[in-house]
Amino acid sequence: MTFSQRITNLKESGTLKVLDKVKELQSRGVSIIQLDVGEPDFKTPNNIIRAAEAALKAGFTHYTPSAGIPELREAVAAKLRDENKLEVKKENVVITPGSKQALFYAIMALVDEGDEVIIPTPAWTSYMEIVTVAGGVVKPVPSGVGFRLNVEGVKEAVTKRTKLILVNSPNNPTGYVASKAELKAVADIAMERKTHVLSDEIYEKLLYEGSHMSIGSIPGMEEYAITVNGFSKAYAMTGWRLGYVAASKPIISAINKLQQHSASCPTSFVQRAALEAFKPDTPVEPMVEEFRRRRDYLCGALKKFKQFRLDKPRGAFYLFPDISKTGMISAQLCNLLLEKVGVSTTPGEAFGGFERYIRISYANSMENLKEAVSRITRALGSLGRH
Ligand code: PMP
Repeated sequence: MTFSQRITNLKESGTLKVLDKVKELQSRGVSIIQLDVGEPDFKTPNNIIRAAEAALKAGFTHYTPSAGIPELREAVAAKLRDENKLEVKKENVVITPGSKQALFYAIMALVDEGDEVIIPTPAWTSYMEIVTVAGGVVKPVPSGVGFRLNVEGVKEAVTKRTKLILVNSPNNPTGYVASKAELKAVADIAMERKTHVLSDEIYEKLLYEGSHMSIGSIPGMEEYAITVNGFSKAYAMTGWRLGYVAASKPIISAINKLQQHSASCPTSFVQRAALEAFKPDTPVEPMVEEFRRRRDYLCGALKKFKQFRLDKPRGAFYLFPDISKTGMISAQLCNLLLEKVGVSTTPGEAFGGFERYIRISYANSMENLKEAVSRITRALGSLGRH
């Protein structure tokens, strides 16, 4: 059997590879503290669950319009107008089964064989692979000191074949939050070179200092910005699979065509639940406060290790320390932490080849984080004695 070139070129997910190994060790009874996780460890708020139950009981269990139910498209447009200052109406919005699907559609809609996509790195693994599936060419632009968005690098990377510039703030894996000046500079490049910007804002609400800005709110960007967001991280709804994308009408129509011929529509009753998520009594703040507490604790604890170097990130739920002083590359250190002391982390290789770094997620309880720190102390201590 021969597979399509598209699939042959595709790499397995680096983050899921870690998970496979974790599951294998757990099945042998090994205690693992998972710091490789990419989802909030909180329960979906009750008001959202009740809304889904009500929709199911009311028989709201059939296909919906492919772009999503009009009430939710309108609610998303209103959220984007009020909170993100985007000039959008419901016709500029498509609801998707997860924000990953929205990113997939946007890239498939714009990128032809050989077209280039500029991706500031470190970056979430799936961007690179989706571009590959589309036949595009990834142009990585490594970040500056402190993971700053390398605007000069982006500018230099633009060619006649550039179709998209990707922006992800707050960032996975670094937690870096782009400054307004950086976003403005990227917007200027996009408008001057008539290139679209795909802005992944999934960690928008997980912000501990400063404020979030959508690049699409910059005057003149209405035509160029494609804004993606979803319910997974802000409302602890990863398993519900719901996201959305907002863009100019021609792009939205292209994206909707792709959805019509693949997912058909997002899950009906989940869309009703999502309407509830936007209500002001949905408890988002307590989750954000708990993440802040954990970030402060874990960052402080890791800074005490002489083998790690890191700054305190302002968003998301990841730390991305430089581990080069351990004398190991990231895959070796992640293996050591997993096999010797049962702490799972993700090698920096997975995020665009950053083998001097590892990603540590703090989407785990304070108790487990404390235990993880004592285990890491043990692992690094044994290292010193070799
Ligand atoms: N973007 C980023 C940066 C992510 O980290 C994730 C989830 N790991 C997603 C998008 C996808 O989220 P979902 O499909 O659950 O909305």
